[in-house]
Amino acid sequence: MSIAIVLFGEYGFDRAVAGVIGCGQALKATTGGEIVAVVIGAPAGEMTSEVAGRVDRVIVASQPELGEYQPETAIDAMKQILAPLGASIVLLGNDTYSQEVTPRLASRLGGSSLADAVEVKSVNGAVHAIRSAYGGKAMATYELKRSPAVVWVRARALAPAEPTGAVATMEETSVNLGEAALRIVERRAEVQEGVRLEDAQIIVSGGRGLGGPEPFEMLKELAQVLGAEQGASRAACDAGWVPPSWQVGQTGKKVAPELYLAIAISGASQHLLGMGDSKVIAAVNTDGDAPIFKHCSFGIVEDYKNVVPLLTEKLAEMRK
Ligand code: FAD
Repeated sequence: MSIAIVLFGEYGFDRAVAGVIGCGQALKATTGGEIVAVVIGAPAGEMTSEVAGRVDRVIVASQPELGEYQPETAIDAMKQILAPLGASIVLLGNDTYSQEVTPRLASRLGGSSLADAVEVKSVNGAVHAIRSAYGGKAMATYELKRSPAVVWVRARALAPAEPTGAVATMEETSVNLGEAALRIVERRAEVQEGVRLEDAQIIVSGGRGLGGPEPFEMLKELAQVLGAEQGASRAACDAGWVPPSWQVGQTGKKVAPELYLAIAISGASQHLLGMGDSKVIAAVNTDGDAPIFKHCSFGIVEDYKNVVPLLTEKLAEMRK
């Protein structure tokens, strides 16, 4: 059973790429076959050589039209590369591009697609993928009946791929892209300060219980002392208090930091879906019955206004 892994060169080699390849390695250990990494949009370089040390074959499509991500163009290229490979399983990570292209790519290849899997396995020749259901209350196993099974996995939460000790062959390929389906009329770049939320080791998140945008400044001071990034619940983002890019959860970012501080966040299942893989969760909430307390290692039942400044002050003293 051969396995293809689609990677976007723009993201470089990170924990997510290592995780999705790790998923492929675990599959290969039980099914045999080869792992082919298809890298879209980056010339061979540091990223591709890291990948080459962990898979059996690398195909790189780096012509200029693919340098800047456009879903239609990327899917077109992927189809042309993947169709002749005939892989039974196509794995992608949980970055924005992968999430966007997975169902469309499956449709173009005549396969089945699934989102947000935490495990993909072969059971008597059938492809099964496991993911959470009912807002994280249960785990469901899906059989992907049409081939290939095209699945994006929760890459950062999976065991990262180890180098195999060999270096895979690297092939540059060129695809026929024709007329681009979409024309970009305006581009607005979001300013990225600090590290990406998905890569943050510590996250300080705020929720609706903060009551407005101003208290996020208070949380910013705490985040600075901790060297943390800031996140938020959907309620806080929808209220316009912080940018939508801060949203953590089912329809936001999936994060897995060493420490996740949830301040005035109730812990709705949709929020937990985005941060439940955090190593340590700590919460501050006035409601002792808030669901977040069932999921955290440390909790303080108190008004955030009494806790956050004190915590910031004490941590700043400790750091001196
Ligand atoms: P609330 O649920 O209103 O909680 C606020 C908390 O603050 C309460 O627990 C309260 O006790 C506490 N509080 C109040 N005052 C204080 C104080 N002074 N000090 C300390 N604590 C205080 N949500 C997400 O976050 N991310 C998602 O990706 C997401 N996706 C969704 C997708 C779908 C399809 C749907 C239907 C919903 C989704 N939601 C998502 C929304 C989710 O269901 C919740 O509505 C949301 O997470 C609630 O945000 P919150 O915890 O900030 O607000």
